[in-house]
Amino acid sequence: MPAPRIVVLAGGVGGAKFVRGLRRHARAAWPDGAGGSTASITVVANTGDDLWLAGLRITPDLDSLLYALAGVNDTSRGWGRAGESERVSGELAAYGVGWPWFTLGDLDLGTHIARTALLQQGLPLSAVVERLSARWPLGVRLVPATDDEVETHVLVQEDGAPRDLHFEEWWVRTRAKVPAEAFVQVGVETAKPAPPVVPALAQADVVLLAPSNPVVSIGTILGIPGIREALLATPGPIVGVSPIIGGSAVRGMADACLRAIGVETSAAAVGAHYGSRRQGGLLDGWLVDTSDEAAVAALEERDVPTRAVPLWMHDDEASAAIAAEALALALGSRTA
Ligand code: GDP
Ligand code: CA
Repeated sequence: MPAPRIVVLAGGVGGAKFVRGLRRHARAAWPDGAGGSTASITVVANTGDDLWLAGLRITPDLDSLLYALAGVNDTSRGWGRAGESERVSGELAAYGVGWPWFTLGDLDLGTHIARTALLQQGLPLSAVVERLSARWPLGVRLVPATDDEVETHVLVQEDGAPRDLHFEEWWVRTRAKVPAEAFVQVGVETAKPAPPVVPALAQADVVLLAPSNPVVSIGTILGIPGIREALLATPGPIVGVSPIIGGSAVRGMADACLRAIGVETSAAAVGAHYGSRRQGGLLDGWLVDTSDEAAVAALEERDVPTRAVPLWMHDDEASAAIAAEALALALGSRTA
């Protein structure tokens, strides 16, 4: 079988773990194709967490993907660059510039300065990402969902008053402890998919939804006008991987996001939320963890072909096995 053209929708850290596994699997299964070149795996990344801070454009999910795929991420801390220092952040804090609880490492700031410089030269974000990605042999094509500035805001009640927080403020400063009343994509009405997104979906042999946050990562990508339509029209199957295992958001606070949109924190409920493609939803297949075996029947009843396989992304090998299962479910034959 020739190397399939794969498109993955992904957020930051969870998405990156999955894409590293997918790349590993693709390199083994198709040594001359997907994962060996930049052509066959396209990662469409969430840009809803992006923000302007201290004069710089920061793109957290794109950077998590970039650093993890380049192998320069900090695996013990779980975010940012390995071997990081924070001297510049200390200076910014002393001047009272930026957010004191949002530490930007020095190496990370190098990326933000480079990105901002390229944006100020007039390059669209997708071209900037291509330029930054060219530094490392990522083995995948990294594409922002949109070149337009669409930022996720969170409506909350804090200290007795309604407040509108940027997603990163809600996530990092409040640790998602202040209940979210709603998520708003500021600027979404006029946003367009980044130029590579719709053609990649139109030519995809398979589309995978990474086990990323269903609300503020995948949900945000789906909210860009034109992306859901392009997904529904994609010729290949769409298979998702549950980010919820045993009723809890693995390493994260996705439960706080799901609560706000009235979806239970369970693999079955998230699968039902994405919905069966045969019934106007997105999914041709859904993977749940072996501990969520009971969800299989519930989802099959809703016309979503579902398999229970180990979904803990302990390391690249475990993530590669998940990717192989997702492709096997999508393409109907075992590619593992
Ligand atoms: P973020 O943008 O950095 O928050 O990352 P993503 O949105 O891409 O992914 C975050 C989500 O990944 C979390 O909410 C978890 O639900 C999910 N996740 C993290 N680790 C694992 C894992 O080992 N297995 C599975 N199935 N999901 C995981
Ligand atoms: Ca994110």
